[in-house]
Amino acid sequence: MAGDRENAFALRGRIAHFLGDPGMSPENLVYFEDGVLVVEDGKILLCDDARSLAGAGFDLAQCEWLPNQLILPGFIDTHVHSPQIDVIASYGTQLLDWLNDYTFPAESRYAQRSFAEASANDFLDYTLSVGTTTSFVYTTSYKQSTEALFEAALAKDMRLVAGKILMDQNALPELQDTAASGYQDSVDLINEWHGKGRLGYAVTPRFSGTSSVEQLTLAGQLLKEFPDVWMQTHMSENLEEIRWLKTVHPHTADYLDSYEQYGLNTDRSIFGHCIHLSDDEILRLAGSGGRVAFCPTSNLFLGSGLMPLEKLKKAGVPVSIATDVGGGTSLSMLTTLGEAYKVCQMQGYSLHPLEAFYMMTLGNAKATHLDHCIGNFERGKEADIVVLDNKPTPMMARRITQCRELDEELFVYMMMGDDRSVARTYCHGVQQYDKGENN
Ligand SMILES: [Zn+2]
Repeated sequence: MAGDRENAFALRGRIAHFLGDPGMSPENLVYFEDGVLVVEDGKILLCDDARSLAGAGFDLAQCEWLPNQLILPGFIDTHVHSPQIDVIASYGTQLLDWLNDYTFPAESRYAQRSFAEASANDFLDYTLSVGTTTSFVYTTSYKQSTEALFEAALAKDMRLVAGKILMDQNALPELQDTAASGYQDSVDLINEWHGKGRLGYAVTPRFSGTSSVEQLTLAGQLLKEFPDVWMQTHMSENLEEIRWLKTVHPHTADYLDSYEQYGLNTDRSIFGHCIHLSDDEILRLAGSGGRVAFCPTSNLFLGSGLMPLEKLKKAGVPVSIATDVGGGTSLSMLTTLGEAYKVCQMQGYSLHPLEAFYMMTLGNAKATHLDHCIGNFERGKEADIVVLDNKPTPMMARRITQCRELDEELFVYMMMGDDRSVARTYCHGVQQYDKGENN
């Protein structure tokens, strides 16, 4: 039953996870047709082949057997906006109008603490129902909306990184902070929440267009004062935005420079989108170790463009994958992988299902420096687990029976899967979602 803690339990079924990038070596994929996963005190104790374990004296009868279901590490979403669950699927605009017409009014509701608390809880429940156990979240410019999200994530023992949005210009007046208040709120939130339970803090300027030079300077100061926090922001999403940004920050050479000048391009920086970067910007990102969050459903929905995944990877830029709800159209990372495939197809690159599943698990963990604790089933890691139902719909069941290899089956989940494909989700060894209970 969801939410009950057992000190130790064992699941038996088909198990897949990655030890590294499967593009570098096929041995980086670990797959057991009949595997056992043992969890103790919230950590992975054992992940191995059932028959060899039985041969060594392990009693398979203690396992809960999930025949045919596929057990994977929890999915990681490296860029999502919790308050935008109320504006997902809003018609007819591209980025700048979408912000003004839909997003800013929706975010202004989070000034009310009770609304922020209820919505934070709903947001996390929605993420668990699609198999996402770790998210990098933009809240709103209100400090209390970030507190509400951290409280809700702590109660569910989720690993989650979030930040209050810094935004002191070019937005609704009631949503604007000031450079000084944004800095102080961030300091207070870091001191209260960063490192508590499984939580972390990300300094979060929305994008350089909505922050003054003074605010960007103080954001850079925060990274110096708290070197183990993250930085998340948006960059080079929309051509009109890029033209507009030159008028807002005319002293900068290009978009990346509007962060670099303030010390905001580091290997703990996660830049959402990065669709229209120049070759020079790509080189500088690769040099600094700055990370990119690829948000395909958002890029298509807002008509922003096609992110050049293959080009960025070849240039040595670490790329993660993310939903970017509510510009993105689904919290499901499976759906996100399917749209990523189409974006890559449009550029002559066929994203392989193993590469895709690696990206949303261990790859995203590595891209965010969390691979020491999540991302796969190595012993000692936190037990964030997703169980996929291989018969979520009659048509998927039919299609999956045709699959001979694991990568064929993963590709079906990637192209046809969504919340219906997720049977269970565990956070830190506790089941937090059960599709059977929620139907
Ligand atoms: Zn975003």
